[in-house]
Amino acid sequence: MDFEKIARILHESSYVVCLSGREMIVEDGIDSMRNMSTAYEIESKYDYSPEELFSAQFYSTRIEKFYEFYRNEVLNQAKEPGKSFRALAEMEEMGVIKATISRQLFDFPKRAGCRNVYDLHGNIYEKNRCPRCGRDYPMEYLRDTPKVPLCEKCRVPIHPGVTLLGEMVDIGLTTKAAAEVSKADTLLLAGAYMRSEMAQQFLKYYKGSRVILIHQGSAHGDREADYFLDARADVALPAIAAELRRLRK
Ligand SMILES: [Zn+2]
Repeated sequence: MDFEKIARILHESSYVVCLSGREMIVEDGIDSMRNMSTAYEIESKYDYSPEELFSAQFYSTRIEKFYEFYRNEVLNQAKEPGKSFRALAEMEEMGVIKATISRQLFDFPKRAGCRNVYDLHGNIYEKNRCPRCGRDYPMEYLRDTPKVPLCEKCRVPIHPGVTLLGEMVDIGLTTKAAAEVSKADTLLLAGAYMRSEMAQQFLKYYKGSRVILIHQGSAHGDREADYFLDARADVALPAIAAELRRLRK
């Protein structure tokens, strides 16, 4: 399976939806909490697991510690997206990719230039909101406040714009993302796995016949994809975008 063949399939598709997986942000240098050694480091540093720290329950009972963790381990990792996301944006610009769905929190698809993005779990930049008056605060305000960031007017803690474990996801947004998947004739799983929660959630709605899977190494479920490319997303997507440019000439 090579880049040219994948590019040709995308070129011949009429509605491509991309599920952008965790490996795409890991390749860009984000230290994923799901990474085993990071999880262990976090647990020894804070005495709680990442799952406990990032939960609605922890937020409501230990908000100072929550913000210490959120600031140090999440907000301080914020950076700009790399070339895999720029390639996605270019493919959207070309009209090949119609929508991108992500559960990562760093807003990489939009920051790279993708427009039709479904950030299912929110992101660190948007909707950092005062629960009382509804005012939104920029990420920098949360990052640079030494303790718990409070609304300047109401003096109550600002809730970050990400969905914590145990909180309701945005059902409206999830429904719209599912509708995008049901329209797709090709589904592109980039830096993702067939057995990931996100893939399992959306494959149910997919009615097309081409599932393209891109990630490095082998994983459970790879054979369920119609096309599997064993490559890093930041290698594969720019190469595929280049092939698409050539095909469209
Ligand atoms: Zn307020």
